[in-house]
Amino acid sequence: MIEFDGVVKRFGDLVVLDQLDFTVRRGEKVTLVGPSGSGKTTILRLLMTLEAVSSGTIRVDGEMLSHEQRGGKLVPAREKHLREVRKKVGMVFQQFNLFPNMNVLENITEAPIHVLGRSRDEARKRALDLLELVGLSDKATAHPSQLSGGQQQRVAIARCCAMDPKVMLLDEVTSALDPELVGGVLDVLRELAESTDITMLIVTHEMGFARDVSDRVLMFDHGRIIEEGTPEQIFNAPENERTREFLKAVR
Ligand code: ATP
Repeated sequence: MIEFDGVVKRFGDLVVLDQLDFTVRRGEKVTLVGPSGSGKTTILRLLMTLEAVSSGTIRVDGEMLSHEQRGGKLVPAREKHLREVRKKVGMVFQQFNLFPNMNVLENITEAPIHVLGRSRDEARKRALDLLELVGLSDKATAHPSQLSGGQQQRVAIARCCAMDPKVMLLDEVTSALDPELVGGVLDVLRELAESTDITMLIVTHEMGFARDVSDRVLMFDHGRIIEEGTPEQIFNAPENERTREFLKAVR
């Protein structure tokens, strides 16, 4: 579903991703862990096409992100191609990023109506189902400013799901929340991970959550994967010294 092949990302002289190769299979839940600055968020931003690779290729669901095939040749992707690939990927951000001037229902239905061309009725019905899933059926007409951070984040999760993405990217989705609100958001994500076959790429410092939902954990350091394995392998019996140090520091 996701394929990174020799991906290099530089910002000036700084090499943030260094010849990165990895794949994530359809339906797999993969967590990226590693010290600050190791390149985890950059990976998600590349997948959202918020950044472009310096070299190498990224494919999502078989489609190349930065390039497209034209006349048997690989050429830089045009906007039309990017728009199609972007539909496959949804992201939930640390800071929720809801539209403040729209109510909850409008936040969730805006993109399905305007980007996917769904009818208002269809989009509304799906939004109400999703609000039930995230436990916010009674907040459909509330505005984001009337909700707690945890509730806003659950709306952001519902909004992401409403686009039926093939891949869901979660970037530190609980780190802006008061501690007492973290549990509710993680419960919703756990439920989503268990009940759907959506492919998830997760960046989190919540090691308990990573352990619960991940099929696989990738440990990053300096833009490279230094160790990977099941949560049991990585959290219970890490082989790499850097992994051991990192886990000791975050626990
Ligand atoms: P954290 O856990 O702190 O979020 P991370 O592993 O997600 O860290 P990234 O956000 O991917 O790390 O950043 C990797 C490196 O790239 C950092 O050194 C960061 O300063 C640098 N970086 C990221 N975006 C830019 C940018 N737009 N311009 C310059 N440098 C950048």
